[in-house]
Amino acid sequence: MKPIPFNNRYIKLGKEFFVETCPQSVNNPQLIKFNFDLAEELGLAGTSLDAADYLSQSTAIFAGNQIPDGAEPLAMAYAGHQFGHFNPQLGDGRAILLGEIDALDGTYIDIQLKGSGRTVFSRNGDGRAALGPVLREYLLSEAMAKLGVPTTRALAIVTTGEEVARQTLLPGGIITRIATSFVRVGTFQFFSARESVEAIKKLADFVIERNYPAAKSEGNAYVALLQSIVERQAVLIATWMQIGFIHGVMNTDNMSVAGETIDYGPCAFMDYYDHDQVYSSIDRNGRYAYSNQPSIGLWNLTRLAEALIPLLAEDTDEAVEIAREILQSYTVIYEQSWLAGMREKLGLSTQQPDDKALIDDLLHRMAANGSDFTLTFYYLSQLSVDATTASSMKHEKLLRALFADADQIQQWLLKWRARIAEEPLDDHARQIRMQAVNPLYIPRNHQIEAAIRAAEDADDFSLFHDLHEVLQKPYERQTGRDLYMLPPEPDEVVEQTFCGT
Ligand code: AMP
Ligand code: MG
Repeated sequence: MKPIPFNNRYIKLGKEFFVETCPQSVNNPQLIKFNFDLAEELGLAGTSLDAADYLSQSTAIFAGNQIPDGAEPLAMAYAGHQFGHFNPQLGDGRAILLGEIDALDGTYIDIQLKGSGRTVFSRNGDGRAALGPVLREYLLSEAMAKLGVPTTRALAIVTTGEEVARQTLLPGGIITRIATSFVRVGTFQFFSARESVEAIKKLADFVIERNYPAAKSEGNAYVALLQSIVERQAVLIATWMQIGFIHGVMNTDNMSVAGETIDYGPCAFMDYYDHDQVYSSIDRNGRYAYSNQPSIGLWNLTRLAEALIPLLAEDTDEAVEIAREILQSYTVIYEQSWLAGMREKLGLSTQQPDDKALIDDLLHRMAANGSDFTLTFYYLSQLSVDATTASSMKHEKLLRALFADADQIQQWLLKWRARIAEEPLDDHARQIRMQAVNPLYIPRNHQIEAAIRAAEDADDFSLFHDLHEVLQKPYERQTGRDLYMLPPEPDEVVEQTFCGT
C-alpha cells in the first residue's frame, strides 16, 4: 500500500495556531459514501485513504478510529463575527485536521474530519455531527464542484453507529472533506484580537506560500494577498448569485481565505426567484439573505483588511488608505463578474450598454411571477431566435408556464430575441454556450430533505445516492430523471434549513 503523501505545514506554524487533538473513536462505523474520483485526482488511490482496496482500514480512518501514518491531527484556532457579533474564541469544535498532502497536481490539500469528537474548542457542543447535515454537505459541496464553483470537496461519509442529541436523538455521521486551505477570515481575526502582529504575519506568509504564491513577487506581498483574496471572494459570490445559492451563515469564521465555498450549514439553492430569500432558521433578521450576500462579502473582507492593517504599510494611515482602495475594488470586480456571468446565461457573447437593463428586467419579472430560477434559465437556453422549431416552441411553452402571468415573460422574450438577433453566433452555437452555464439539475432542498429523511428514518441511502449521481452531470438531461429537475410541489416546500449543530 502506498503511503498517504502527508506533508504537514500548518503544524509548523507554532502552538498558538492549533491544539493537537486526536479524533475520538466511534462504536460501529459504516462507510456510506466514498469519492473515488476525487481520491484518484488527489493521488490517494492505493493509499489507506482509498476505500476501493482497503475498505476496513479506510473506514476506520474516516471514522477517526485509526490515525494514518504521517497524520498529525489538530484542531485549528480561529475567531469570528457571528451574525455581526465578534467572538474572539471559536476554533474547530467538531472538526479535526488530519494533515496536509501534496496533491498530484502540485496543490496543497488539507484533509479534515468533521463530526469527529470534542476538542478544546468545543465549548458546550458535543463535537459530533448528525447524519443529516453530513449528507447535505456532501451533496451540496459535490454539486457545487460540478457546477464549477470553487468549494471544499467531500471525500467520504461514515455513520458512527452512535446517536447525537439535538432536538431529538439522531444518527451520527462524519464527513471527510478537503480544501486548499481551512484558514478563514476568522483565523486572522483570532490573532488580531490578541494583537499578535507576529502571528498575523506568520499566517499571512503561510497563506501566500500555499494559496497565493504569485503575491511573493509583488512589492508588498501582503497588499497583493489582500487584493487577491478580495478578487476571489468577489468572483465566488457573483457565481453563487448566478446559480441561486444561499450560503445561509456567512459569518467570518465561515469565509475561506482561499476563496472556496466552505461550511455548508443551513444553505440552500432557491427554487422560485425571490431576491430577499432567507432559508436559515437561525437567520432571524435576514442578514444572510440571498440579496445581502455581495455586501456581506465586503463586510467580511473589511474585517480581514482590518486584521491585515499592520502588514500593509509601516504607517497606519497609509495602510488604511491601501486597504480602503482594495476594498473599493471589490464592488467593481463583483459587478463585472456578475454581469459577465449573466451575459453568458442569457447567451450574450458581445456587450451592449443596455444588457444590464435587459437582465434586471428579466429578474424583476421572475420575482413578480414566482418563476423557478433554475428552470427559467434552462428553458431559455433551449430557445431559438425565430421560435419556429418544435423544440423551441415546446420549451417556450414550458418557460411561460413558470410565470404566473405568461405575458410577462413573452414581452421580455421579444426584447431578448431582438438583442440575440444582433449576436454573431447562430442559434445552435449560442444554445450550446448557454446550456454549458445553465444547469437543469441543482440540489433542490426538498430532494435533499427527502434523501435525509430516508437515511435517518429508515437507514435507506438510495435517494441520497440517486440524487448525488444526478448532480454529477448538472447540465446534461438524464433519462428517467425529470423528477430531479422539478421544483417542489406545495406540500414538499422546505421553508427553512437548520444547521443541526
Ligand atoms: P458552524 O456554525 O458549524 O460554522 O460552527 C460555529 C462554531 O461552533 C465553530 O467553532 C464550530 O466548531 C462550533 N460547533 C458547531 N457545532 C458544534 C458541535 N456539535 N460541537 C462542538 N462545536 C461545535
Ligand atoms: Mg463554521
